[in-house]
Amino acid sequence: MVVLSNVNKHFGALHVLQDIDLSIARGEVVVVIGPSGSGKSTLCRTINRLETIDSGTITVDGKELPSEGRELARLRADVGMVFQSFNLFAHKTVLQNVMLGQLKVRKTDQAAAHAKAQALLDRVGVGSQAEKYPAQLSGGQQQRVAIARALAMDPKVMLFDEPTSALDPEMINEVLEVMQQLAREGMTMVVVTHEMGFARSAANRVVFMADGKIVEEATPEQFFSNPRSDRAKDFLSKIL
Ligand code: ATP
Ligand code: MG
Repeated sequence: MVVLSNVNKHFGALHVLQDIDLSIARGEVVVVIGPSGSGKSTLCRTINRLETIDSGTITVDGKELPSEGRELARLRADVGMVFQSFNLFAHKTVLQNVMLGQLKVRKTDQAAAHAKAQALLDRVGVGSQAEKYPAQLSGGQQQRVAIARALAMDPKVMLFDEPTSALDPEMINEVLEVMQQLAREGMTMVVVTHEMGFARSAANRVVFMADGKIVEEATPEQFFSNPRSDRAKDFLSKIL
């Protein structure tokens, strides 16, 4: 579903992604972990061309994303993205937030977009908040709206970049539960997270990055019980 081959990227002198090869199958849940600055966010952002790459190829469902233009907007919508900071439109209601992409990018008609937005908000447990503005919601509720907004585009893959890192502890689980549910329903997901409980229970595969490289890939069972590289051992000893 998502294939990165030999991807390289620099920020000036910093070689932030180094020969990245990664294939994510349909329905697979891949958790990406690694130290701060290892390139996890940059990796996510390259998948939907929020960042350009210097060399290599990235395909989503067999198609390479163009670097600009209307085609990019349409293909980019196949890749749902949820960030640490919820990035909702502050001056639009919750419902409007979830309708907007459908209207603008997918050209869905108003009534269908409305119905779908309400159904998605119900599904993530915030259906009763539809007429409020983002600032009137808790962080956990806002993040669930952000997930609903991404799902409204019928994405082929969902990318989550530390979706719970900005949340108060009591709100983390309500967001992780929505993500667990999505994983069970067969959504293809790439999740950057420090929530090792989520990685253990939802991931098919853990990808460990350090210094712009994929250092290790394994099932969660293998990775957490028997990491092979010293970098991974060192990282796990600090976070577990
Ligand atoms: P964290 O766990 O802290 O979120 P990360 O693994 O997501 O870290 P990235 O955000 O991908 O790391 O950053 C990787 C490296 O690239 C860091 O050294 C960062 O400072 C640098 N970097 C990221 N974005 C830019 C940018 N737009 N311009 C220059 N350098 C950048
Ligand atoms: Mg990051």
